[in-house]
Amino acid sequence: MCVAHEDKLTSVAYSFGVTFIAVAIPVARTDAVSRALESAQAAKLHGADLVEWRVDTLAEDSHGSSAIVRLVQESPLPCIVTVRDESEGGAFSGSDDERIAVWRAASKAVPPPAYIDVELSTYHARDSMGNSAREIARISNMEKTDAPRVILSFHDFRGRPPGLSSRVAEMWSDPGSAIAKVVWTARTARDNIEAFELLASRAKPTIALCMGEHGLMSRVLAPKFGGFLTYARADDHGTAPGQPTVEELVHNWGFRSIDQSTKVFGVIAYPVSHSRSPEIHNRWFRAANFNARLFAIAVAPSWEPFKATLAELFGYAPLDFCGVAVSMPHKENAIRFVKEFGGVIEQSAQRIGAANTIGKSADGKLFARNTDADGVVESLANAMRRAGGDGDLRGKRIAILGAGGAARAAAFGVGSRGASVVITNRTASKAKKIAEEFARALGDAPALDVKAKALSALSKERFDVIINCTSVGMDGGPAAGQNPLPAEVVLDEHVVVMDAVYAPAKTALLLHAEQCGAKCVGGWEMLIAQAAHQFEGWTGKRPLVGADPSADAAPSR
Ligand code: NAP
Repeated sequence: MCVAHEDKLTSVAYSFGVTFIAVAIPVARTDAVSRALESAQAAKLHGADLVEWRVDTLAEDSHGSSAIVRLVQESPLPCIVTVRDESEGGAFSGSDDERIAVWRAASKAVPPPAYIDVELSTYHARDSMGNSAREIARISNMEKTDAPRVILSFHDFRGRPPGLSSRVAEMWSDPGSAIAKVVWTARTARDNIEAFELLASRAKPTIALCMGEHGLMSRVLAPKFGGFLTYARADDHGTAPGQPTVEELVHNWGFRSIDQSTKVFGVIAYPVSHSRSPEIHNRWFRAANFNARLFAIAVAPSWEPFKATLAELFGYAPLDFCGVAVSMPHKENAIRFVKEFGGVIEQSAQRIGAANTIGKSADGKLFARNTDADGVVESLANAMRRAGGDGDLRGKRIAILGAGGAARAAAFGVGSRGASVVITNRTASKAKKIAEEFARALGDAPALDVKAKALSALSKERFDVIINCTSVGMDGGPAAGQNPLPAEVVLDEHVVVMDAVYAPAKTALLLHAEQCGAKCVGGWEMLIAQAAHQFEGWTGKRPLVGADPSADAAPSR
């Protein structure tokens, strides 16, 4: 490392392997200073180590300099002063003289800020601003321990900047900068890996972060790769897209216990923002004391981006990427990926034609598994036991609505436990295809009793169980709030009605079934049951489901 003069914070970071949390607080006007100081105090209590005062527009105010000096002097945490120019995504559009006046005033505060952030382009400018920036860096490099150090920074809000590595190398080699900082908008999850590679090869303390929905991994995993700091927001107002709050970082993500050995998992879907998997698995990882974090990863709905993303995540060894939950529309791609990479497709996934879980066996080989089938069977059997039965599905007559991925998994799950299945779907040909496939024996897998029928069959025959595997009733879907079951279908206390839809927790179908006296199982139970099988496949342990019953209960809506 070639740090000319190491300040206290950077030496703490290096001696103890600490990655700091800097809360970024924008302060637009002089009358916002007191409120901003309160926010910084609250962030300190939540666990922030530094505060970045973002004073872009305040710097243009005629009383801005004295307000900024107050922020620095009364700051409850060591601080960074940043006047971000419009050219790099900030709001400062004032003159060179105004910016220079702020830097000079802030540097003279007692105590002064720990750091002043200067854009690389400004630092190299052959004008008065560039001269002032270099002068601040020169003073900080003299053995003057209380002078602010310079963070040289580069930002690109549009995407990955061209010449990224040469710009970073430039920041590393300039003796004027104490810290090099590069931040760009991630186009996909793969950009995070480039941020990690930069951190891993750093020649001086470095901040490398990705913005936007694809960049969260770089923010949370900065400690795994020795990043100098990560930025967080104090409340609703962050300074860049994708910043978590300090509380989220410390409590939900367990930021303080992330280290080199932290394992990484993902949930891949498109869209993915609705997924509950990060919340469920991260809570179970914590409860099991298993050092791992799971991230939502949005991957565009086709094979090429799916393959490229997973190949890179599994291929970058320092990431310790160990597995992924796969959701719509990639469950078939999951099988293809594992096949292409020489892994094992488990029989259930093979037969269903889709996998919702990819993991690594002890020998490092990938496996593809489908835990949706287990999720249906387990939650259904539990409900039958709650209703006084033995949970045995043999000989039970089960109707399944739908012929998509969930329906295939349900038909396989209950069919292979000996149930007699009728499958019905809006597009009848899809139900027929599933029935034909499952009615044939395949290798070791026996033929299943699965028949395709029209929806009207449900009102003519009696069923022990009816399972909705369509998306009808799902919040945000095209048939939100609707009941997929025709009114003529008789429901009573002898019927168990299960809905795969888990948002809302009580669908129109379940409300109707409850009114008819039927036993009900919600999609949340299935979700938790299938997630528990994923967790076991990844960690070798059953999660502590039920240790805190409220934690795994369905959300009220
Ligand atoms: P999918 O593959 O897209 O299948 C959707 C199914 O719904 C198809 O059979 C489709 O019929 C049917 N459908 C859609 N709109 C309809 C409408 N207006 N009327 C009648 N049928 C309609 O989806 P999936 O993966 O099977 O998921 C289905 C539901 O299960 C989703 O709500 C999903 O969130 C849920 N799910 C829950 C879990 C869990 O753990 N609880 C797990 C997996 C899935 P067509 O074939 O005619 O289009």
